[in-house]
Amino acid sequence: MKVTIKEWNAVATWHWDIPEDEVCGICRVQFDGTCPTCKFPGDDCALVQGRCNHAFHMHCLMTWIDLETSKGLCPMCRQKFEWKDKE
Ligand SMILES: [Zn+2]
Ligand SMILES: [Zn+2]
Ligand SMILES: [Zn+2]
Repeated sequence: MKVTIKEWNAVATWHWDIPEDEVCGICRVQFDGTCPTCKFPGDDCALVQGRCNHAFHMHCLMTWIDLETSKGLCPMCRQKFEWKDKE
């Protein structure tokens, strides 16, 4: 039997595939919430994970990488921040 999801309530069921108590290393807000500049969680405020396994809101990371002082390093472990390849 083929199951079709007819209705998808993105707001109520939305959840990132990471531990619930994990917070963004930059703004310290949980990933089920948004970065300080966004109102709604989801693809518009995506999550990025680096090879070092630290994760951040995309917007938080962009802001951080833009800073000259960041030198392209992960704010958590100070290794060069490289985006983790999607499997
Ligand atoms: Zn954040
Ligand atoms: Zn955002
Ligand atoms: Zn890191």
